Amino acid sequence: MKKERLDKVLASQGTLTRRQVRELTDRGLVILNGAPCRRCDTKIDIENDRITVQGETIQLRQFVYIMLNKPVGVVSATRDDCRKTVLDLLPEALRRRGLFPAGRLDKDTTGMMIITDDGQLSHRILSPKNHVPKTYLVTVDRTLDPSLVAAFAEGVKIDGGERCMPAALEILGEKQACVVLRQGMYHQIKRMFAAFGYEVTALTRTAMGALQLDPELAPGECRLLTPEEVVRLQCREP
Ligand code: URA
Repeated sequence: MKKERLDKVLASQGTLTRRQVRELTDRGLVILNGAPCRRCDTKIDIENDRITVQGETIQLRQFVYIMLNKPVGVVSATRDDCRKTVLDLLPEALRRRGLFPAGRLDKDTTGMMIITDDGQLSHRILSPKNHVPKTYLVTVDRTLDPSLVAAFAEGVKIDGGERCMPAALEILGEKQACVVLRQGMYHQIKRMFAAFGYEVTALTRTAMGALQLDPELAPGECRLLTPEEVVRLQCREP
C-alpha cells in the first residue's frame, strides 16, 4: 500500500496548491474517510482512502499525466546542469518526485510531450512492439518528391545501414509533410529525410496515439490529461 502526504497528493491533482490544502485542513474542510483531517502532513493511502474537499469527492490519481507543448531550446531530460529542461516548465502545482518525459524530442523540435511518473505507460507508448503512432509535421529545405511516400512506406535505410520500420508520409505542401512513426530512434525523422538529401528545417510532434496536441496550449504551456485522454494516448491508430 503506497502512502503519501495529503498535501502533496492533493496538490498533484492539479487544482490546489499545498498552501491551499494546508488552509483547508486548518479549517476542517478536508474530510478523510468521513472525519475532518486537520493535519496536511497526514499520510494517506491513494488507492483506498476517501477524500472530500469542501464537500466535493476527490478521485485520487495514483499517477500524473501531463501534456506539454515543448518550445524550441528546451531539452527533454529530467535534469541538465546548464540548459532548461521540460520539467523546469511545469508549474509548482504539477511538480512531484518521479516525473520524467515519456520519450525524447530534440532541443530544436517542438510540440507534444507527455510527462508522467507512470513507467509502465511510458513503456507501452514508446516500445516499437506496441506500434503506438507518433505524428510529426515536418518542414524541409526543398521541394518534396512524391516518391518519398513509397520509400517511407517501405522502410527507410538510415546512415546507409539500419532500416526503419515502415512509416506513413503525406505531402501537405511543397516543403511540408506529415509523418507517422511507430518507433523512436535517435534523430529519426531528420535521418530519414537526410537519407534522401533533405534537411529538416522545422519539426513539431502533433499527436501521440490518437491524442492530438491541444491547440489551446501555447509553447511552454502544459495541462493534466483526463482519464479518457490517457486511454487515447495508447491507441494504435492515429
Ligand atoms: N525525429 C527527430 O529527428 N527529432 C525529434 O525530435 C523527433 C523525431
